[in-house]
Amino acid sequence: MKITISKFAGFCSGAKKAYEITTNIAKENNKNLHILGDLLHNKDVIKKIESLGVKKVKKVQDIKKGRIVITAHGDGKNVFDEAQNKGVEVVNTTCPKVIKIQQLVKKFHRDNLPIVIVGDKNHKEVKGINGWCNKSAVIISRLEEIKNINFDKLKNAVIVSQTTQNLKKFQEIAKVLQEKIKNTKVFNTVCDATRNRQGETRKIAKENDAVIVIGGEKSANSQKLFEIAKELNPKTFFIENAEQLNLKNFINLEKVAITAGASTPDWVIQETYQKLKTLKS
Ligand code: SF4
Repeated sequence: MKITISKFAGFCSGAKKAYEITTNIAKENNKNLHILGDLLHNKDVIKKIESLGVKKVKKVQDIKKGRIVITAHGDGKNVFDEAQNKGVEVVNTTCPKVIKIQQLVKKFHRDNLPIVIVGDKNHKEVKGINGWCNKSAVIISRLEEIKNINFDKLKNAVIVSQTTQNLKKFQEIAKVLQEKIKNTKVFNTVCDATRNRQGETRKIAKENDAVIVIGGEKSANSQKLFEIAKELNPKTFFIENAEQLNLKNFINLEKVAITAGASTPDWVIQETYQKLKTLKS
């Protein structure tokens, strides 16, 4: 069996940076070090962070003193303000690409332009971006949701995307919004890492007998990779780690590809690869 690991599988630059900053700080001094939510949407990474003594909190108010890590997904302005008011030191690992969207949203909100975010309203990154326009954004995750928008009140708009949005879906939604809203400014803020990963996933899904997508169940970008690959190759399987790999699904196959979301660490990809290699064919 020929096993191909996608060249874009695993940690993106933002996830890598957040992981390295947090683990390095924790190894030096984990006293009163807290993290706001999950560093990355991956159980193995969360276990590792916990093993270093970093305490997870849901909100800044849960901390009496110390430091708080803001994750790569970023957070709203109110979170930074609350930390400052409490005298809690912020370790900001927000990905620079997310910061760029936050700044766009902040600027145009100040100019009184309505903001539309194409993304998942329950995702941390989207909630954080919305926190830079006083939570006023219209959030759309699917084309069908456009019918719920009152366009009489929306004469102009600034449209941005969650960084891990499916690029094709973002373009479709932005196109329909442009037809319905008189003046729009569209910023394609799907990040390069996501674009490359999705493009490569399409390619490997067509070229292989089966595809394995490794990612956390809460990882939006991993779920998107699964959607993309499954559409092109019905033999696509989503797993969180090697333990979940069912070798029976790959018996007698000649070519299998492995890809992984931006929050999946290399060691999980390697363990999956090694397990798959044990299959004789
Ligand atoms: S997916 Fe892109 S935007 Fe998100 S953390 Fe990674 S590099 Fe940054």
